[in-house]
Amino acid sequence: MKLAKFKQKFVFIIFFMMATGIFSETTEKIVEHAREKTPTLFDFLFKAPFITKYYAMIIIGMISLLLLLTKKMKPKVKIAILLFSTFLFGFAGNIPVKPFSYFSMHPSPMCVTKAMLYGFAIPFVITLGVILLLTLIGPRLFCGYICPVGTFQELMSLLAEKLKIKRNRFNFIFAHSVRILLFILFVFLSTTLILHVVFEGEIYAKSIYDYVNPFHGMELAVPENLAAALAHYLPLLLTIILALKYYRPFCHFVCPVGLFTQWAEQVSLFRVSLKKSACNDCNLCVKKAPCEAMDDILKSATLRPDCFACNICVENCPENALKIGTKRTR
Ligand code: SF4
Ligand code: SF4
Repeated sequence: MKLAKFKQKFVFIIFFMMATGIFSETTEKIVEHAREKTPTLFDFLFKAPFITKYYAMIIIGMISLLLLLTKKMKPKVKIAILLFSTFLFGFAGNIPVKPFSYFSMHPSPMCVTKAMLYGFAIPFVITLGVILLLTLIGPRLFCGYICPVGTFQELMSLLAEKLKIKRNRFNFIFAHSVRILLFILFVFLSTTLILHVVFEGEIYAKSIYDYVNPFHGMELAVPENLAAALAHYLPLLLTIILALKYYRPFCHFVCPVGLFTQWAEQVSLFRVSLKKSACNDCNLCVKKAPCEAMDDILKSATLRPDCFACNICVENCPENALKIGTKRTR
């Protein structure tokens, strides 16, 4: 019990160190983001470099939903989708050929929070809108099958399972509290300009999420020195390593979009649905599930911890008591 508590604290300390600025983004990059000329609504709706990614997100989200609803989301199919999204939305932008660059995850789930700092510009609003739409349809389609950091962590979880790495669980309330605290800190420190940089006499708000952004690590770059390399790649590296031991640590402890989508998930149209009369209380789903949500699903709790629609509980129920459906309990 003591060891479990220590491990929880360890995860917290790692993320807290990252979030409190040991690894920092350069002033130039912050200014570049703040000064970026935003495309017009017309650009977004009619120009391929802007709109293609959103169509791709919606198409992959709908295909995933269809596969989940028809029980055709078999492990191999799931791995194929996870690999595809990790590549397309995470790494394809590094390929210097036009269509690939259209899919890069900009603004990333970490950067959409900057909408509050730099005005609710169109890229932020449309990205948030699509994420919200996919989450409200559910079950957590963006985080589960599209977000490249999410899909990368899901792949690590499957790899750990395959390699029989002993996995640990964390307390959901604890993780959720850290995630909320980080968001409150972000709002407080950034909007009050306590956290800022000065460039050419101008003050620019900084975001604590810039310090802990694994999406940056997917943009392959040759950093000037070791400190720059750490700032760029360490959040992604730590996220991947921790994902071998814990289920989606970055989503649960840090991501602001993870926080919003966890709230939105509570009212989504589709979700894991339990047929109470078929459940024989064997608890196999709880044992097999990588998440913290199963206990609450079995108790028919109104509020559930994050479910990323991995489908593992559904696949492992010997009585077919679980499925993706519109009702919490049937
Ligand atoms: S919680 Fe954040 S990092 Fe995780 S999948 Fe969702 S958007 Fe991506
Ligand atoms: S095991 Fe079930 S409840 Fe847990 S994340 Fe996967 S689908 Fe959701």
